[in-house]
Amino acid sequence: MAVALTFDADWAPEPVLEYTVRLVESYGIPATFYATNDSPALHWAAKQGHEVGLHPFFGQPDASDRDTLHHLLDLYPDAAGVRNHRYRMDSTSIYLFAKAGLSYDCNIMAHDSPEVPPYVHHTGLVRFPIHFGDGASLQYGLRTPYDLLADADRQDPVVLLFHPIHIYLNTQSMAHYACAKKDQHDMAALNRHVASGKGPGVREWFHEACAAAQRGAVVMRDAADAITNGQSKAEALPSDEAGAYTAPQ
Ligand SMILES: [Zn+2]
Repeated sequence: MAVALTFDADWAPEPVLEYTVRLVESYGIPATFYATNDSPALHWAAKQGHEVGLHPFFGQPDASDRDTLHHLLDLYPDAAGVRNHRYRMDSTSIYLFAKAGLSYDCNIMAHDSPEVPPYVHHTGLVRFPIHFGDGASLQYGLRTPYDLLADADRQDPVVLLFHPIHIYLNTQSMAHYACAKKDQHDMAALNRHVASGKGPGVREWFHEACAAAQRGAVVMRDAADAITNGQSKAEALPSDEAGAYTAPQ
């Protein structure tokens, strides 16, 4: 089973992002980081060979979605993929992505749904589902990666979504995170919220996923690689409409 390990940066402090990149590096596995802003830690991750995609916050009153997307693209011109903050998008978003030259988006939440395969939108953009999100799992009591990764019969690549802040804190509940969030930009204060000791928490879920890769139970890929080289090749995916698409000028 191919597994894409992905992270939404969400304006996390640089030490938190750097901690997460180093943790991923310690396992020697590839990952995808979706960036919300300019981050030395994420530029360093790209240099280490990780994928860096875009994590735009659409729907803001003072900026068009196009400007928000292109601001991020200017910072990360090699980005191939995008996942929107809070999956926020509208009927124009996919066309915006395709016209900007992106290859895929990862905005379909299929957490705890039956197997949902990626598919090719008529623009050519691959739409890639998400099968686990740390926040959703905490908030709604949904499945953890343990169940997903134990499903040896699964055919399509599995996408795991983590947030660096939850890895850093080893967030154990949304109440835990709500308490820590107010100190997010004061590292000394934030460190007092880091969950100590063993216990169910997001960092344990992350370690379990990485351990499964080390055991050879799953193959970790970054998201772009999982689409093109995983078991679901883009050209073999079902398309929702035949024919080529030309982006409007
Ligand atoms: Zn986000």
